[in-house]
Order: sequence, then structure tokens, then C-alpha cells
Amino acid sequence: MKITKIETFLLHVPVTGSQIADSAHRITHWGVPGVILHTAGGLRGYGYTGTHAHTALDRLITDCIAQTYGPLLEGEDAQDVQRLWRKLCHFPPAQWVGRSGITQLALAAVDIALWDLKAKAAGLPLWKLLGGCRPGGIEAYNTDGGWLNLTTAQVVENCRRFVGEGYPGVKIKVGSPNPNDDLRRIEAVRAAIGPDVKFMVDANGKWDLPTALNTARKFEDYDIYWFEEPLWYDDVEGHAALARATRTPVALGEQLYSLDAFAAFVRAGAVHFVQADVTRVGGITEWWQVADLALAHHLPVAPHAGDMGQVHLHTALAHPACTMVEFIPWIRHCFEEPIVVKDGLFVPPQQPGAGSTVTAGALQEFGIR
Ligand code: MG
Repeated sequence: MKITKIETFLLHVPVTGSQIADSAHRITHWGVPGVILHTAGGLRGYGYTGTHAHTALDRLITDCIAQTYGPLLEGEDAQDVQRLWRKLCHFPPAQWVGRSGITQLALAAVDIALWDLKAKAAGLPLWKLLGGCRPGGIEAYNTDGGWLNLTTAQVVENCRRFVGEGYPGVKIKVGSPNPNDDLRRIEAVRAAIGPDVKFMVDANGKWDLPTALNTARKFEDYDIYWFEEPLWYDDVEGHAALARATRTPVALGEQLYSLDAFAAFVRAGAVHFVQADVTRVGGITEWWQVADLALAHHLPVAPHAGDMGQVHLHTALAHPACTMVEFIPWIRHCFEEPIVVKDGLFVPPQQPGAGSTVTAGALQEFGIR
């Protein structure tokens, strides 16, 4: 399966309600810098990463794919995913300028495209190729109603609707300047959804350790399923201290770029729910390594949806450490086989590939030239 051509693309797709905010970000579009790997036999593999749709930065990612990784891939056998991942990941000039950030996001897009090709060549959806652990589906939780720019009444209404639709879990944003504002919102949501729904909160790295310690103790009154990114993303010791001090489990990983970064948090007892993201660690290959690390420590994996669920649905259906997948529907209409949730479960995809094939219509409608 010889790679004959490397083509990049860039989509900017509007988010729900024209704008969303958490404690650290305010965005109007989801960025999808990606790659199409063409092969001699005619198969095409699609891969992409996820960004906040900043054109100049997104261009650095697609340029890295086209100009740095492209020449390393041309003429190679796309079946050799592990070898090619190592070739790109350990390419000395790329390592020199970044083992995280833009080079890693570019690597993620390429690796997903390679796995997409491998599954298409096998005639199987990727989750089947990887061993198919959950043919009946996997639990979904809905994040797309709890943004910080919404009123408490809107968040309560959204969460109540999600529960009515069958979602077994919901997540809302916290990290307000006054944590009491978040506590009032949490109290209102818990009262609306009842005691049996999994209820997660996400501070997007906003708070310092004293604020997080104080607030996490108060979360315990509302049976919070996890407290996501309470502190600065790379603060291993701070998260470990928080994890020791509260009964509310700590979730993190959406901003970690490597197996080594996850290993540091796991070794320190600083994480309970491992939220590796295929679009940020170096693709499916490194995501699987992180999931194995979690499994070895008996920690659940609940991937962050930088891919908006299209690819994680496959990896989560296959890896035994995964317990649930985040649902955010912003870009699902861009794919040939969009993710589907029915009665609170993601429905296993049936088409060959990694779920990453973008439609011609989406390239036309949302493509940035
Ligand atoms: Mg998050």
C-alpha cells in the first residue's frame, strides 16, 4: 500500500450557537487541520487534529504535515503504521523543535490517516481491526450544554433535555472568578437531573491549588463524578496534592502530548480518569500506549473529544480501559459516517476505516483556502 501523494486540508466549522466559552477559551469555530494520504491502489486515508480555528497556527500544522512529514512518507508502505510513527516521531529536526505542540498535532493527523488506511485495506471499521471489545456500543456523556457563557437557566434546561434523551452523564464548565457562582450552578443542575446521572465539572486549568482544594471539598455535597483540569495542565504535584485531599476524582489529559507526560501523572497518583486525546498525543498509536498505561494501573480512560468523537469511538470500542466517550456534535456532519448516540450509547460504526473520512461537501463548505 504505497503512499503516492500527501494532500492537506483545513476546515473551520461553526460551533453550536455561534460561540461557546469555558474558563480559558472563547471560540466560534472548531479547526480541523488534516491530511489525505493517497495510495497506489487508490485507497485514501484521512486524518486530522483539532484546534481553535486560528488560521495562521493551523497553517503551521498543515505545513508541518506537507513539508516535513510528507517527504518522509512518500513511497512508504502505509501498512507499517508503527514503523512510520517512530520514523516521524523520532525525526531529529522535528524532535529538536518540538516533542509537543504543532509537530505533535501534525503527527497525530498523519497517524490517524495511516490507521484509517489500514482499516480500509482490511475492509473493517477500525474498532474491529483493533480487537472489538464492545460490539454493543459504549456510554456517551454530553458536554455541549454546559458552557460558561450560558445562563444557569440555559445550562439546567440543556442538561435536563440530555437526560430526557437518555444520556447517562452530563458535563458543565466551572472555573468562574467567584467559585460560589459555579457552586450555585452545580446545585441547580444536580437538582434538575436527579441523583442517578453522572455529573462532571471542568475548570479548564483555571484555578490555583488553594481555590481548587476549597471548592473540591464543596463539590462532595453534589456527588460530582469527576473534577476535570482543576489546575494548570502540567502541574503534576498540584494535582497529586488535590487528589489526596478530596473524595472527588480528578480527570485530566486533554492538554498532555505524550506517553511520558501521562506516566508522570499516573506515577504521582495525580489522575483518576485518563483523558488522552488521539488528536493531541501522537495519534492512535500513542493514544493506545497511554490507554495501556492506564489499564496497567486500573484507571479508566474517558477520551477528550478533540476529534469530536469520530475516531475515539473506534479506539474506545476496542480498548478495554475505556468506559465512556464525550459527545460534542460540532463537526459530525462533515464525515461520511457521523457518530450516532442512541439511548445514551454510541452506536458502533460499520464502514471500513477510522471514522475520519471527510465528505467532499464539507471540504467545499468549510475549507479554508
Ligand atoms: Mg475539558
